[in-house]
Amino acid sequence: MDHKFTFKDHIAYVTDRCAKLIHGLSRAAKVTWGIKHEAMKTIYKSAILPLLLYGAPVWIEAMKHEYNRRKYIKIQRMINILTAKAFRTTSNEALCILTGLTPIIIKKEEVVRLYNARKIRGSQPQEIDYAVDYKNWPHPADGAFIIEGEDTKELTVLAYTDGSKSRLGVGSGTVIYKGNKIATQITTRSDSKCSNNQAEENAIIKVLEATATLNIPENNLRTAKVYTDSRVTLDSLQNPRNHAYLIKEIRKTVATLPESNWKITFSWVKAHAGIPGNKKADKLAKEAARSRLIDITYSRLPLSSVHHDIQLDSIKRWQKEWQTCTKAQKTKQYFPSAEERLKKKIIITQNVAAMLTGHGRTTAYLHWFKISDNAQCICVQGDQMVEHLIYDCILLETQRSTLRMNVTKNGQWPADKHELITKHQKHLIDYIESIDFDKL
Ligand SMILES: [Zn+2]
Repeated sequence: MDHKFTFKDHIAYVTDRCAKLIHGLSRAAKVTWGIKHEAMKTIYKSAILPLLLYGAPVWIEAMKHEYNRRKYIKIQRMINILTAKAFRTTSNEALCILTGLTPIIIKKEEVVRLYNARKIRGSQPQEIDYAVDYKNWPHPADGAFIIEGEDTKELTVLAYTDGSKSRLGVGSGTVIYKGNKIATQITTRSDSKCSNNQAEENAIIKVLEATATLNIPENNLRTAKVYTDSRVTLDSLQNPRNHAYLIKEIRKTVATLPESNWKITFSWVKAHAGIPGNKKADKLAKEAARSRLIDITYSRLPLSSVHHDIQLDSIKRWQKEWQTCTKAQKTKQYFPSAEERLKKKIIITQNVAAMLTGHGRTTAYLHWFKISDNAQCICVQGDQMVEHLIYDCILLETQRSTLRMNVTKNGQWPADKHELITKHQKHLIDYIESIDFDKL
Protein backbone atom coordinates (compact mmCIF):
# COMPACT_ATOMS: atom_id res chain seq x y z
CA MET A 1 0.00 0.00 0.00
CA ASP A 2 1.16 3.51 -0.71
CA HIS A 3 1.88 4.95 2.72
CA LYS A 4 1.74 8.55 1.63
CA PHE A 5 -1.75 7.93 0.39
CA THR A 6 -2.76 6.42 3.73
CA PHE A 7 -1.40 9.41 5.64
CA LYS A 8 -3.11 11.80 3.29
CA ASP A 9 -6.37 9.95 3.80
CA HIS A 10 -5.94 10.00 7.51
CA ILE A 11 -5.19 13.70 7.59
CA ALA A 12 -8.16 14.45 5.36
CA TYR A 13 -10.41 12.41 7.66
CA VAL A 14 -9.16 14.04 10.86
CA THR A 15 -9.27 17.59 9.55
CA ASP A 16 -12.73 17.01 8.12
CA ARG A 17 -14.02 15.77 11.47
CA CYS A 18 -12.48 18.77 13.25
CA ALA A 19 -13.95 21.17 10.72
CA LYS A 20 -17.43 19.73 11.34
CA LEU A 21 -16.95 20.02 15.09
CA ILE A 22 -15.85 23.64 14.74
CA HIS A 23 -18.77 24.49 12.46
CA GLY A 24 -21.06 23.14 15.15
CA LEU A 25 -19.32 25.30 17.69
CA SER A 26 -19.51 28.41 15.59
CA ARG A 27 -23.24 27.88 15.13
CA ALA A 28 -23.54 27.60 18.91
CA ALA A 29 -21.36 30.69 19.21
CA LYS A 30 -23.81 32.68 17.09
CA VAL A 31 -26.76 31.61 19.17
CA THR A 32 -25.13 32.44 22.50
CA TRP A 33 -23.40 35.59 21.29
CA GLY A 34 -20.03 33.99 21.46
CA ILE A 35 -18.51 31.33 23.62
CA LYS A 36 -16.10 33.00 26.02
CA HIS A 37 -12.48 33.21 24.99
CA GLU A 38 -11.20 30.95 27.80
CA ALA A 39 -13.95 28.38 27.18
CA MET A 40 -13.00 28.19 23.50
CA LYS A 41 -9.38 27.57 24.46
CA THR A 42 -10.50 24.75 26.73
CA ILE A 43 -12.61 23.21 23.97
CA TYR A 44 -9.64 23.43 21.60
CA LYS A 45 -7.23 21.84 24.06
CA SER A 46 -9.53 19.10 25.28
CA ALA A 47 -11.49 18.19 22.13
CA ILE A 48 -9.88 19.44 18.94
CA LEU A 49 -6.19 19.14 19.74
CA PRO A 50 -6.33 15.48 20.83
CA LEU A 51 -8.07 14.67 17.54
CA LEU A 52 -5.50 16.57 15.52
CA LEU A 53 -2.58 15.04 17.36
CA TYR A 54 -3.82 11.49 17.69
CA GLY A 55 -1.20 9.09 16.44
CA ALA A 56 1.08 12.00 15.56
CA PRO A 57 4.33 10.01 16.03
CA VAL A 58 3.19 7.57 13.35
CA TRP A 59 2.48 10.06 10.63
CA ILE A 60 4.59 13.10 11.49
CA GLU A 61 6.47 12.44 8.23
CA ALA A 62 3.33 13.37 6.31
CA MET A 63 3.67 16.89 7.71
CA LYS A 64 6.63 17.41 5.41
CA HIS A 65 4.12 17.88 2.62
CA GLU A 66 2.89 21.42 2.34
CA TYR A 67 -0.54 20.14 1.33
CA ASN A 68 -1.01 18.33 4.65
CA ARG A 69 0.43 21.14 6.71
CA ARG A 70 -1.99 23.58 5.16
CA LYS A 71 -4.94 21.38 6.11
CA TYR A 72 -3.83 21.46 9.72
CA ILE A 73 -3.16 25.17 9.75
CA LYS A 74 -6.60 25.75 8.25
CA ILE A 75 -8.23 23.95 11.19
CA GLN A 76 -6.21 25.93 13.68
CA ARG A 77 -7.15 29.16 11.92
CA MET A 78 -10.84 28.29 12.25
CA ILE A 79 -10.57 27.71 15.97
CA ASN A 80 -8.29 30.73 16.42
CA ILE A 81 -10.80 32.99 14.70
CA LEU A 82 -13.58 31.74 16.96
CA THR A 83 -11.39 32.06 20.04
CA ALA A 84 -10.08 35.52 19.25
CA LYS A 85 -13.35 36.70 17.68
CA ALA A 86 -11.11 38.02 14.96
CA PHE A 87 -11.70 38.90 11.34
CA ARG A 88 -11.13 36.15 8.80
CA THR A 89 -8.46 38.18 7.06
CA THR A 90 -6.16 37.95 10.09
CA SER A 91 -3.10 35.75 9.51
CA ASN A 92 -2.77 32.55 11.52
CA GLU A 93 0.57 33.82 12.82
CA ALA A 94 -1.11 36.85 14.39
CA LEU A 95 -4.03 34.72 15.58
CA CYS A 96 -1.76 32.30 17.46
CA ILE A 97 -0.06 35.18 19.24
CA LEU A 98 -3.46 36.63 20.06
CA THR A 99 -4.89 33.40 21.48
CA GLY A 100 -1.60 32.17 22.91
CA LEU A 101 -2.08 28.79 21.23
CA THR A 102 1.14 27.24 19.92
CA PRO A 103 1.17 27.05 16.09
CA ILE A 104 -0.15 23.61 15.24
CA ILE A 105 2.90 22.34 13.33
CA ILE A 106 5.21 23.23 16.23
CA LYS A 107 2.71 21.71 18.66
CA LYS A 108 2.70 18.52 16.65
CA GLU A 109 6.47 18.26 16.68
CA GLU A 110 6.43 18.90 20.42
CA VAL A 111 4.03 16.02 20.98
CA VAL A 112 6.19 13.71 18.90
CA ARG A 113 9.31 14.70 20.82
CA LEU A 114 7.56 14.13 24.15
CA TYR A 115 6.44 10.74 22.91
CA ASN A 116 9.95 9.85 21.81
CA ALA A 117 11.41 11.02 25.12
CA ARG A 118 9.14 8.52 26.85
CA LYS A 119 9.49 5.65 24.42
CA ILE A 120 12.84 5.59 22.73
CA ARG A 121 15.22 4.81 25.52
CA GLY A 122 18.94 5.09 25.34
CA SER A 123 18.85 7.58 22.48
CA GLN A 124 18.66 10.60 24.73
CA PRO A 125 21.78 12.64 25.42
CA GLN A 126 21.10 12.14 29.10
CA GLU A 127 19.43 9.26 30.88
CA ILE A 128 15.86 9.77 31.98
CA ASP A 129 14.23 8.64 35.17
CA TYR A 130 11.67 6.33 33.59
CA ALA A 131 9.31 4.13 35.44
CA VAL A 132 10.82 0.67 35.60
CA ASP A 133 9.59 -1.66 32.84
CA TYR A 134 7.02 -4.11 34.09
CA LYS A 135 9.19 -7.04 33.06
CA ASN A 136 11.78 -5.86 35.57
CA TRP A 137 9.36 -5.53 38.46
CA PRO A 138 10.19 -7.88 41.29
CA HIS A 139 7.54 -10.44 42.15
CA PRO A 140 5.31 -8.81 44.79
CA ALA A 141 6.29 -11.56 47.22
CA ASP A 142 9.95 -10.60 46.83
CA GLY A 143 9.30 -6.89 47.10
CA ALA A 144 10.19 -4.97 50.20
CA PHE A 145 7.62 -4.25 52.79
CA ILE A 146 7.81 -0.56 53.42
CA ILE A 147 6.55 -0.02 56.92
CA GLU A 148 5.75 3.42 58.11
CA GLY A 149 5.54 4.68 61.64
CA GLU A 150 5.82 1.38 63.44
CA ASP A 151 7.07 2.04 66.90
CA THR A 152 10.30 0.20 67.40
CA LYS A 153 11.44 0.47 71.00
CA GLU A 154 15.06 -0.46 70.71
CA LEU A 155 16.63 1.17 67.73
CA THR A 156 20.21 0.46 66.75
CA VAL A 157 20.23 3.20 64.20
CA LEU A 158 18.24 6.35 63.63
CA ALA A 159 18.63 8.21 60.37
CA TYR A 160 17.37 11.50 59.00
CA THR A 161 17.27 12.27 55.31
CA ASP A 162 16.52 15.38 53.31
CA GLY A 163 16.74 16.74 49.81
CA SER A 164 17.18 20.30 48.62
CA LYS A 165 16.67 21.99 45.29
CA SER A 166 17.46 25.61 44.65
CA ARG A 167 18.74 27.57 41.70
CA LEU A 168 22.24 26.69 42.91
CA GLY A 169 21.74 22.98 42.53
CA VAL A 170 20.25 19.79 43.90
CA GLY A 171 21.62 18.02 46.95
CA SER A 172 20.85 15.24 49.41
CA GLY A 173 21.83 15.10 53.05
CA THR A 174 21.66 12.31 55.56
CA VAL A 175 22.75 11.91 59.11
CA ILE A 176 22.90 8.54 60.87
CA TYR A 177 22.86 8.24 64.64
CA LYS A 178 24.10 5.20 66.51
CA GLY A 179 22.92 5.46 70.07
CA ASN A 180 22.96 9.20 70.65
CA LYS A 181 26.05 9.82 68.58
CA ILE A 182 26.36 10.75 64.94
CA ALA A 183 27.84 7.71 63.18
CA THR A 184 27.88 9.02 59.63
CA GLN A 185 26.90 12.05 57.60
CA ILE A 186 26.54 11.82 53.85
CA THR A 187 26.10 14.52 51.27
CA THR A 188 25.56 13.89 47.56
CA ARG A 189 24.76 16.05 44.60
CA SER A 190 22.46 15.45 41.64
CA ASP A 191 22.16 17.11 38.26
CA SER A 192 20.67 20.57 38.65
CA LYS A 193 17.68 19.46 36.56
CA CYS A 194 16.81 16.70 39.01
CA SER A 195 13.81 17.23 41.26
CA ASN A 196 13.58 17.71 44.98
CA ASN A 197 11.81 14.36 45.25
CA GLN A 198 14.67 12.63 43.52
CA ALA A 199 17.03 14.25 46.03
CA GLU A 200 14.87 13.00 48.92
CA GLU A 201 14.89 9.50 47.48
CA ASN A 202 18.61 9.52 46.83
CA ALA A 203 19.17 10.47 50.46
CA ILE A 204 17.18 7.42 51.55
CA ILE A 205 19.21 5.14 49.30
CA LYS A 206 22.40 6.51 50.83
CA VAL A 207 21.13 5.79 54.34
CA LEU A 208 20.22 2.24 53.43
CA GLU A 209 23.58 1.58 51.81
CA ALA A 210 25.44 3.07 54.75
CA THR A 211 23.35 1.16 57.27
CA ALA A 212 24.26 -2.14 55.66
CA THR A 213 27.94 -1.41 56.17
CA LEU A 214 27.71 -0.13 59.75
CA ASN A 215 29.89 -2.04 62.10
CA ILE A 216 27.40 -3.70 64.42
CA PRO A 217 27.94 -7.24 65.69
CA GLU A 218 25.80 -9.56 63.69
CA ASN A 219 24.18 -11.30 66.62
CA ASN A 220 23.04 -7.94 68.00
CA LEU A 221 19.59 -6.59 67.32
CA ARG A 222 19.76 -4.59 64.10
CA THR A 223 16.89 -2.15 63.77
CA ALA A 224 16.93 1.13 61.89
CA LYS A 225 14.42 3.85 61.47
CA VAL A 226 14.62 6.29 58.58
CA TYR A 227 13.00 9.69 58.99
CA THR A 228 12.02 11.75 55.99
CA ASP A 229 9.98 14.94 55.78
CA SER A 230 8.84 14.01 52.27
CA ARG A 231 5.26 12.79 52.42
CA VAL A 232 5.33 12.21 48.65
CA THR A 233 8.26 9.82 48.95
CA LEU A 234 6.68 7.85 51.78
CA ASP A 235 3.40 7.55 49.90
CA SER A 236 5.21 6.51 46.72
CA LEU A 237 7.13 3.83 48.61
CA GLN A 238 3.94 2.36 49.97
CA ASN A 239 2.04 2.58 46.72
CA PRO A 240 2.42 -0.76 44.92
CA ARG A 241 1.48 0.90 41.63
CA ASN A 242 4.40 3.30 41.77
CA HIS A 243 7.24 1.94 39.67
CA ALA A 244 9.47 5.00 39.45
CA TYR A 245 13.13 4.16 39.14
CA LEU A 246 14.33 5.53 42.50
CA ILE A 247 11.35 4.13 44.39
CA LYS A 248 12.21 0.73 42.92
CA GLU A 249 15.85 1.19 43.93
CA ILE A 250 14.82 1.93 47.51
CA ARG A 251 12.56 -1.13 47.65
CA LYS A 252 15.31 -3.26 46.15
CA THR A 253 17.81 -2.12 48.76
CA VAL A 254 15.34 -2.56 51.60
CA ALA A 255 14.69 -6.09 50.36
CA THR A 256 18.37 -7.02 50.70
CA LEU A 257 18.72 -5.80 54.28
CA PRO A 258 17.15 -8.77 56.10
CA GLU A 259 19.98 -10.87 54.63
CA SER A 260 22.28 -8.98 56.96
CA ASN A 261 19.66 -9.14 59.69
CA TRP A 262 18.49 -5.55 59.43
CA LYS A 263 14.95 -4.49 60.09
CA ILE A 264 14.06 -1.10 58.62
CA THR A 265 11.08 1.13 59.26
CA PHE A 266 10.25 4.52 57.84
CA SER A 267 8.68 7.49 59.46
CA TRP A 268 7.53 10.92 58.48
CA VAL A 269 8.90 13.90 60.34
CA LYS A 270 7.58 17.44 60.19
CA ALA A 271 10.03 19.70 58.38
CA HIS A 272 11.29 22.90 60.02
CA ALA A 273 9.90 21.85 63.39
CA GLY A 274 13.20 22.09 65.20
CA ILE A 275 13.85 18.35 65.35
CA PRO A 276 17.67 18.21 65.56
CA GLY A 277 18.17 15.26 63.16
CA ASN A 278 15.88 16.80 60.54
CA LYS A 279 17.55 20.18 60.91
CA LYS A 280 20.95 18.59 60.45
CA ALA A 281 19.87 16.65 57.33
CA ASP A 282 18.26 19.79 55.91
CA LYS A 283 21.48 21.74 56.46
CA LEU A 284 23.58 19.02 54.83
CA ALA A 285 21.24 18.83 51.82
CA LYS A 286 21.37 22.60 51.34
CA GLU A 287 25.16 22.60 51.63
CA ALA A 288 25.38 19.79 49.09
CA ALA A 289 23.07 21.62 46.70
CA ARG A 290 25.33 24.65 46.51
CA SER A 291 28.68 22.85 46.86
CA ARG A 292 30.95 22.72 43.84
CA LEU A 293 33.32 20.32 45.59
CA ILE A 294 30.94 17.37 45.68
CA ASP A 295 30.75 15.40 42.44
CA ILE A 296 27.38 14.94 40.79
CA THR A 297 26.60 11.26 41.29
CA TYR A 298 23.03 11.18 40.05
CA SER A 299 21.93 12.55 36.73
CA ARG A 300 18.86 10.68 35.59
CA LEU A 301 16.55 13.50 34.65
CA PRO A 302 12.97 13.42 35.80
CA LEU A 303 10.54 13.15 32.88
CA SER A 304 8.96 16.41 34.04
CA SER A 305 12.19 18.31 33.39
CA VAL A 306 12.52 16.70 29.95
CA HIS A 307 8.94 17.84 29.22
CA HIS A 308 9.78 21.30 30.42
CA ASP A 309 12.83 21.52 28.14
CA ILE A 310 10.88 20.33 25.11
CA GLN A 311 8.15 22.89 25.80
CA LEU A 312 10.71 25.67 26.16
CA ASP A 313 12.20 24.58 22.88
CA SER A 314 8.77 24.82 21.22
CA ILE A 315 8.44 28.40 22.42
CA LYS A 316 11.89 29.16 21.00
CA ARG A 317 10.88 27.72 17.63
CA TRP A 318 7.67 29.70 17.72
CA GLN A 319 9.62 32.86 18.55
CA LYS A 320 11.97 32.26 15.63
CA GLU A 321 9.05 31.77 13.22
CA TRP A 322 7.31 34.82 14.64
CA GLN A 323 10.39 36.97 14.22
CA THR A 324 11.03 35.92 10.66
CA CYS A 325 7.44 35.97 9.40
CA THR A 326 6.66 38.99 7.28
CA LYS A 327 2.95 39.05 8.11
CA ALA A 328 1.27 40.43 11.21
CA GLN A 329 3.38 43.60 11.44
CA LYS A 330 0.67 45.36 13.45
CA THR A 331 0.47 42.59 16.05
CA LYS A 332 4.26 42.48 16.26
CA GLN A 333 4.33 46.08 17.39
CA TYR A 334 2.55 44.95 20.55
CA PHE A 335 4.20 41.56 20.87
CA PRO A 336 7.67 41.35 19.40
CA SER A 337 8.18 38.21 21.49
CA ALA A 338 5.99 35.10 21.57
CA GLU A 339 7.47 34.14 24.92
CA GLU A 340 6.51 37.48 26.41
CA ARG A 341 2.98 37.10 25.07
CA LEU A 342 2.58 33.71 26.75
CA LYS A 343 3.35 35.21 30.13
CA LYS A 344 0.32 37.46 29.81
CA LYS A 345 -3.27 36.69 30.49
CA ILE A 346 -5.42 38.68 28.09
CA ILE A 347 -9.09 38.17 27.46
CA ILE A 348 -9.49 38.66 23.73
CA THR A 349 -12.72 40.30 22.67
CA GLN A 350 -13.76 41.63 19.26
CA ASN A 351 -12.46 45.09 20.12
CA VAL A 352 -9.17 43.76 21.48
CA ALA A 353 -8.62 41.56 18.41
CA ALA A 354 -9.37 44.51 16.13
CA MET A 355 -6.94 46.85 17.86
CA LEU A 356 -4.15 44.28 18.26
CA THR A 357 -4.26 43.10 14.65
CA GLY A 358 -5.55 46.06 12.67
CA HIS A 359 -8.22 43.74 11.29
CA GLY A 360 -11.50 45.13 12.61
CA ARG A 361 -14.36 47.41 11.87
CA THR A 362 -12.31 50.54 11.29
CA THR A 363 -12.82 52.55 8.14
CA ALA A 364 -9.11 52.14 7.37
CA TYR A 365 -9.60 48.35 7.37
CA LEU A 366 -12.75 48.54 5.26
CA HIS A 367 -10.94 50.73 2.80
CA TRP A 368 -7.91 48.45 2.78
CA PHE A 369 -10.13 45.53 1.81
CA LYS A 370 -11.98 47.68 -0.71
CA ILE A 371 -15.26 47.53 1.18
CA SER A 372 -15.45 51.31 1.44
CA ASP A 373 -13.82 53.96 -0.70
CA ASN A 374 -12.66 56.12 2.14
CA ALA A 375 -10.28 55.39 5.01
CA GLN A 376 -11.00 58.59 6.84
CA CYS A 377 -12.28 58.61 10.42
CA ILE A 378 -15.53 60.45 11.08
CA CYS A 379 -13.58 63.00 13.09
CA VAL A 380 -12.16 63.99 9.68
CA GLN A 381 -8.71 64.40 11.17
CA GLY A 382 -7.06 61.39 9.54
CA ASP A 383 -7.39 57.79 8.42
CA GLN A 384 -9.01 55.57 11.00
CA MET A 385 -5.95 53.43 11.66
CA VAL A 386 -5.29 51.73 14.99
CA GLU A 387 -2.69 54.42 15.73
CA HIS A 388 -5.23 57.15 15.08
CA LEU A 389 -7.65 55.54 17.50
CA ILE A 390 -5.08 55.11 20.25
CA TYR A 391 -3.21 58.40 20.01
CA ASP A 392 -5.12 60.98 18.02
CA CYS A 393 -8.84 60.60 17.43
CA ILE A 394 -10.56 63.54 19.12
CA LEU A 395 -13.75 61.53 19.52
CA LEU A 396 -11.96 59.34 22.07
CA GLU A 397 -10.36 62.19 23.99
CA THR A 398 -12.34 61.58 27.21
CA GLN A 399 -11.25 57.95 27.50
CA ARG A 400 -7.75 58.82 26.34
CA SER A 401 -7.29 61.31 29.15
CA THR A 402 -7.93 58.48 31.63
CA LEU A 403 -5.46 56.24 29.79
CA ARG A 404 -2.90 59.03 29.62
CA MET A 405 -3.31 59.78 33.32
CA ASN A 406 -2.75 56.13 34.25
CA VAL A 407 0.20 55.69 31.92
CA THR A 408 1.98 58.78 33.19
CA LYS A 409 1.81 57.42 36.74
CA ASN A 410 4.76 55.19 35.90
CA GLY A 411 5.73 56.06 32.38
CA GLN A 412 5.54 58.62 29.62
CA TRP A 413 2.84 59.54 27.17
CA PRO A 414 2.74 58.69 24.35
CA ALA A 415 3.97 55.17 25.10
CA ASP A 416 4.53 52.87 22.13
CA LYS A 417 2.30 49.85 21.66
CA HIS A 418 4.76 47.37 23.12
CA GLU A 419 5.11 49.46 26.23
CA LEU A 420 1.35 49.96 26.46
CA ILE A 421 0.65 46.24 26.48
CA THR A 422 3.68 45.36 28.65
CA LYS A 423 3.45 48.02 31.32
CA HIS A 424 -0.12 49.29 31.10
CA GLN A 425 -2.09 46.29 29.90
CA LYS A 426 -5.14 46.84 32.06
CA HIS A 427 -5.49 50.51 31.18
CA LEU A 428 -4.93 49.86 27.48
CA ILE A 429 -7.57 47.10 27.46
CA ASP A 430 -10.03 49.33 29.34
CA TYR A 431 -9.45 52.00 26.71
CA ILE A 432 -9.89 49.57 23.83
CA GLU A 433 -13.09 48.19 25.35
CA SER A 434 -14.49 51.69 25.68
CA ILE A 435 -14.35 52.24 21.94
CA ASP A 436 -17.78 51.97 20.33
CA PHE A 437 -17.11 51.03 16.72
CA ASP A 438 -20.79 51.52 15.88
CA LYS A 439 -20.33 55.23 16.43
CA LEU A 440 -17.01 55.61 14.65
ZN1 LIG B 1 -10.89 59.98 14.51
